[in-house]
Amino acid sequence: MSDGRMGNAAGGWRIGLDLGSTAAKGVLVAPDGTVAERIIDLSRGEPAGTSERLAWELSARNGVKDALVVATGYGRALAGTAARTVTEISCHARGLHAQHPDARSVLDIGGQDAKAIRLGPDGSVEDFSMNDRCAAGTGSFLEMAARRFSLDVGELSAFCGDSAAEEPGEPRIEISSTCVVFAESELVGLAARGADSKAVLRAVHRSIAKRVLFLLRQVKAPEPLYFTGGVAANLALADAIARESGLKVAVADHPQFTGALGAALFARHPPVTLAI
Ligand code: ADP
Repeated sequence: MSDGRMGNAAGGWRIGLDLGSTAAKGVLVAPDGTVAERIIDLSRGEPAGTSERLAWELSARNGVKDALVVATGYGRALAGTAARTVTEISCHARGLHAQHPDARSVLDIGGQDAKAIRLGPDGSVEDFSMNDRCAAGTGSFLEMAARRFSLDVGELSAFCGDSAAEEPGEPRIEISSTCVVFAESELVGLAARGADSKAVLRAVHRSIAKRVLFLLRQVKAPEPLYFTGGVAANLALADAIARESGLKVAVADHPQFTGALGAALFARHPPVTLAI
């Protein structure tokens, strides 16, 4: 239901900002509840300036003079433009329910963290589990692996044929290190022994999937399960997670913007009091 009505149209323009550790995302929602624009920038370690710039660009480009701003994400407390802040868990749940009302769980993988959320039929948060301590199940692990093989992170999935399964006759490679630093040495060792780079990268995807499986199990994630966050653009990882978990994994519409959309939908314009 991308770009469809998102409900809760309270009569004004709304901006949701998701100030993540890696990327800052902004979504402008029009008074009729449709998404007018999405915008993304690197976080650059200064959420205050980034949030102001994103809100200003979204407003200026769309001729919006007045919008309610709600911020989420790692840097949300520093977003001076925001009237309100809301947790990433609540925003992912809210945004995903608006995009995919059938969703019963969310797996969000960003640059530095991963979370699984179980949703009620109305999109409410029933349970969640989060990993923000270990980079091994996050986007930074994929970034490291891509750099090692001189690829852009956006090229990894296609390089693996959008699949994490070994090809027939291919020896099974396991990345056993649970820490990114040791895993990088493991990749160097495998390359030095002449291992096929596609086979190694498929093993990298399977290893990330094993880490996030723990989160999905903790919340007893039911289907339909949707994948969100910047890393959800990687179809080989969605495939690896489906294989490891036995669950069907659907990628959300505009997955990197789900949290920002949820933040925008939390903006409520004050009720109008009629003078009588
Ligand atoms: P955060 O909110 O933590 O800043 P995001 O949800 O914005 O994170 O996702 C950022 C992560 O998404 C980065 O690690 C980046 O490498 C990854 N990413 C972005 N595009 C792709 C892609 N096409 N394939 C795989 N990973 C991607």
